[in-house]
Amino acid sequence: MATPEVVFAHTDGGAVTDIAQYEATGGFSALEKSRAMAPDEVIEELNASQLRGRGGAFFPTGRKWSFVPKPEQIAKPHYLVVNADESEPGTFKDREIMLRVPFRFLEGCLIAAYAIQSKHVFIYIRGEYEQEFEVLRDALAAMHKKKVLGGVTIVLHRGAGAYICGEETALLESLEGRRGQPRTKPPFPAIAGLYAAPTAVNNVESITTATSVMEMGGVEYAKLGVPNSTGTRVFSLSGNVVNGGNYELPHGFPLKDLIYEVGGGIANGRKLKAVIPGGSSTVILTPAEVEKATLDFDSLTSLGTAIGSAAVIAIDDRCCMVQLGIRVSQFYEHESCGKCTPCRVGTHWLTQILQKIEDGRAAQSDLDLLLDVCDRILGKCLCPLGDSDAIAVASYVDKFRDEFQAHIDNGGCPLGGSSSLEAVLAPVAMHHAAHEVAHA
Ligand code: SF4
Repeated sequence: MATPEVVFAHTDGGAVTDIAQYEATGGFSALEKSRAMAPDEVIEELNASQLRGRGGAFFPTGRKWSFVPKPEQIAKPHYLVVNADESEPGTFKDREIMLRVPFRFLEGCLIAAYAIQSKHVFIYIRGEYEQEFEVLRDALAAMHKKKVLGGVTIVLHRGAGAYICGEETALLESLEGRRGQPRTKPPFPAIAGLYAAPTAVNNVESITTATSVMEMGGVEYAKLGVPNSTGTRVFSLSGNVVNGGNYELPHGFPLKDLIYEVGGGIANGRKLKAVIPGGSSTVILTPAEVEKATLDFDSLTSLGTAIGSAAVIAIDDRCCMVQLGIRVSQFYEHESCGKCTPCRVGTHWLTQILQKIEDGRAAQSDLDLLLDVCDRILGKCLCPLGDSDAIAVASYVDKFRDEFQAHIDNGGCPLGGSSSLEAVLAPVAMHHAAHEVAHA
C-alpha cells in the first residue's frame, strides 16, 4: 500500500512555502475548525487520536495540554513553547518539517495555543538551523499579513548550540536568559514553566501532527499505525545505508523493511552488524533483534530499547563497537551541563576507559569498571543526559562483549583500525524520497 503522508500531507514530495499554495490545499482549515470548537473539545480530539509526543518521551500530547490549568485557575499568562532545538545525534526530521511544511507547523502552533488558551508562543530553534529560521520568519510574516494569527504572538528564539537546551526545563532557563541547565521537577512546566507561568512544551513534529489530527479528526488519525503507537512518524534513517534520509511511515512498520526496502540496504555490499533504533541514547539492537522489531513503542520496549526520537542508525560489520562507544561518550561528555556529579564526571570516565580499551592499554578490571561507572550514572542524574550515555555504552558491552574482550586480549582493536564509523552519527545529506513501499 502507499505510504500515508500525514505530516507531509499535500506536498507532493516538495515544499509548501507559499501561503497561497498552502491555502489552496486546505491550509488553515484545521485552525478554523479548532477555533469553532471549545478549547477542551480540541484537547478531546487530540486524546481521541492518541497522539504521543515525537520529541523522544512519547508522552500523550492531549494529556500534556490538559495539565495546563485554565486561565481562571491561575491568573497568569499561559505559554506554548515549541522545542525546535533538534540535536539528538542521528535526528534530523524537525528541520525537514520546518523547511517543507512551515505553515502546517505554524498552524499547529496556533491550534495548540488555542487549546491551552495561550496568546504567546515561543519557538526555540536550534542556532545552527539558519535556513529553517529564515523559512519560518518568512512564513510568519505572510501569516501576519493574512491576519491568521488571531491575536497570538509567535516569537522565534534562536538557541546557541547547546544539546542540553533540548531538555524542556533547560530550554525554559535559556529562554529566560539564563544558562541552559535543567530545573528540578516538580514544579512541572504545565504549572510553573516559562516565567513561572503555566506552559506547554511540545516538539515540532508533535505540533505539526496536531494540525493533521484536527484536519482528519482524532478517531480517523488513530486508525493509522498500531495500538499504543497511532499515526505516522518521520524516521531519520542514517549510518551505513544506501539511501539515508527522512521517511514518513506508519508506526508498526518493520525495522528491517525500513533499512532494506526503503533505505536500499547496507552500503558497499557490507553486512548489518547493529542498529540504534531511536537516537544515540537508545539500547542498540543486534541483527537477530532487528528481524523481530517493528517501529513502535511496544515492539521496541519489548526488546529492551525505545523508539526515542525515531532516529534509526544502521551500522555495518566494519564498525568497531568500542570506537562507537567513544564517539557517543565524547558527545555526552562535551554536552553535559555539569550540574550533577554522576553525569559531569561519569561521562568523562566512560570516554577515558573506552579509549584505554581501544588503545590496548586496558586490564580485565577496566571492563568491570566501565560497567560500574554506567551503574553509578544510571538513575542518579537530574535529567536524562547522563543516563543516555550509560544506557548506550552498557548496551554495546552487553550485546558485543566478545569484541570488548578481544580488545583487551589482543592489546588493541581486532578490526585493525578498520571502521565505518565516519558514516555513523555523521551528518546525512537531507533528502526526502517520495516512495511507495509494499507493506502488508
Ligand atoms: Fe546537567 Fe548531565 Fe545533570 Fe543533565 S544529567 S543536569 S546534563 S549534569
